[in-house]
Amino acid sequence: MHFEIPGDAAVEVAVRRAVGSWGNAPTRLLQVLRETQEQLGFLPPQALERIAGEVGVSIATARGVAAFYSFLYTEPQGAYRLLFSDNVTDRMHGSAVRMREMGERLWVEPGKISEDGLVSLGRTSSIGLCDHAPALLVNGLPVPDVDARRASEICDLILARVPLAEWPRELFVVEDFVRRRDAMLSDAARPGEAIRAAIERGEASGTGPQATLEEIKRARLLGRGGAGFTTGVKWESCSRQQVTPRVVVCNADEGEPGTFKDRLLLRQHADLVFEGMTVAAYGIGATQGFVYLRGEYRYMLESLRETLERRRRAGLLGTAICGRDGFDFDVEIHVGAGSYVCGEASALVESLEGKRGIPRNRPPRLAEKGYLGRPTVVNNVESYCAAALILLRGADWFCSRGTERSSGTKLLSVSGDCERPGVYEYPFGVSVAQVLEDAGARNTIAAQVGGPSGVCLGQDEFTRRIGFEDIETGGAFMVFDASRDMFEVARHFSHFFAHESCGFCTPCRVGTSLLRNLMDRIRDGKGSQHDLVAIEELGGLLRGASHCGLGESASRPLLDTLQRFRPAYERRLESPAVEPAFDLDGALARARRMTGRDDEGAHIGEAP
Ligand code: SF4
Repeated sequence: MHFEIPGDAAVEVAVRRAVGSWGNAPTRLLQVLRETQEQLGFLPPQALERIAGEVGVSIATARGVAAFYSFLYTEPQGAYRLLFSDNVTDRMHGSAVRMREMGERLWVEPGKISEDGLVSLGRTSSIGLCDHAPALLVNGLPVPDVDARRASEICDLILARVPLAEWPRELFVVEDFVRRRDAMLSDAARPGEAIRAAIERGEASGTGPQATLEEIKRARLLGRGGAGFTTGVKWESCSRQQVTPRVVVCNADEGEPGTFKDRLLLRQHADLVFEGMTVAAYGIGATQGFVYLRGEYRYMLESLRETLERRRRAGLLGTAICGRDGFDFDVEIHVGAGSYVCGEASALVESLEGKRGIPRNRPPRLAEKGYLGRPTVVNNVESYCAAALILLRGADWFCSRGTERSSGTKLLSVSGDCERPGVYEYPFGVSVAQVLEDAGARNTIAAQVGGPSGVCLGQDEFTRRIGFEDIETGGAFMVFDASRDMFEVARHFSHFFAHESCGFCTPCRVGTSLLRNLMDRIRDGKGSQHDLVAIEELGGLLRGASHCGLGESASRPLLDTLQRFRPAYERRLESPAVEPAFDLDGALARARRMTGRDDEGAHIGEAP
């Protein structure tokens, strides 16, 4: 078993099949590329040409999209593609050792393909299995808890060339650890109940769908993805647009390293997710819905489609939902292809349109002009679950939990140095200390809440509380005990951001690389106090001049750890008196020329 260069006939069959599944509109480009690759193993030049012709885009566009997404390959890959999850928690649990062991047994270097084409070995950003670290994907299928025994078993199977379909199924079993249930995870809502409740609420009040919007507003539901925008305001703004059709999008691109609670919701509460989307569609008058499922969760696609099909048969999707004439709405699932920035709502919509996932300029907001220029609401998986329960149980019930500014509950994905990693649901307002205690964390020195783009908390801050008035979070909660080196944690995150920068804007593209290089330089014992100052200056530049949240938050883990764990940096410095190795502002000069920018924001130390 090894990869084969596909002939024209094979390419023709694969492209036809992919176009047959997805259609030939330009918006289908990414899905057609992805599905063609699933059949061929990679995207050879003739496939790109053929696909470009089929969907009516230029070859350059097809190549550009294929190059943008890290899960699309234009070069041959191994017949077995091993991708180790590369979150810091995977490293803490031995992913680097496992990877080296497997590389040695399989005769393949990390980042390369074995000479016989049998196997390729690489890393990818967090795959949403931090509660099962270290984890990896084999041809897109998740293998959790890769200890030495399991790694050896995988090597045996590969060396014996056992087809993946014949591998022991238990290798791929992912257990969801639900450690604490509250209002959402303990609710036993049945499919259709929330939709009927929304319709009845509208009929009882005589205000129709407006009653749905009012209930969501009264519940003070804030977006669970981390940004905390008021969901009711967003939905109402969308509903007021004159353009139709309107669109409901579920952001299931759970890419923030350290988070995996949407994995649980999508696998065990998919009906509630779709119920929330349908309630949103009723409220804003949408007819079209999408779930944007991250590429790392491709393995959930079939079961999610089955749920959608079951709901269609039950009259909960399609035309005349719940027997109500004119209430037409359906949902389609698009699969991402490995891009962290696509978690940003406007980048996600670009990706849904089949393009590279580059964040848009705003305004206009997506609620005014989103998918194909149509009014669009984009909400997180957890937000839709909350919305469904609000319509079913009422805003008062929802607000009876949480705090004044943060109503309801929050799902946290807890991982790292603790005895009980998993998903914990708490009313907002829970303290960090309480979460640590419940998770069995000992000798904790830091909690990274909200992923790399969130906040790093030291011991003296564990009394702080989860909520929009204090610690906002999309749900990642990584724990570090006294055996960890917080400089190395921050250095890992600097590599993550440099890798995930989409490259669209200069401050982020250059700044994240400079930050990574500075951290490596300090790690190598060649840093100085000037480098610490440079990190702070670059942080200011990135915050002030980046186009989207990725660039704005890329320096945050470094600045947080510099503030709280400065000795971890300083003990690595070669000499406090060493002069800077390079002129940071000068390093940006070429990038400024390329982009035609020379304003204050494009200079170090002069960001607003
Ligand atoms: Fe891309 Fe970074 Fe600019 Fe965002 S800030 S658009 S990720 S380059």
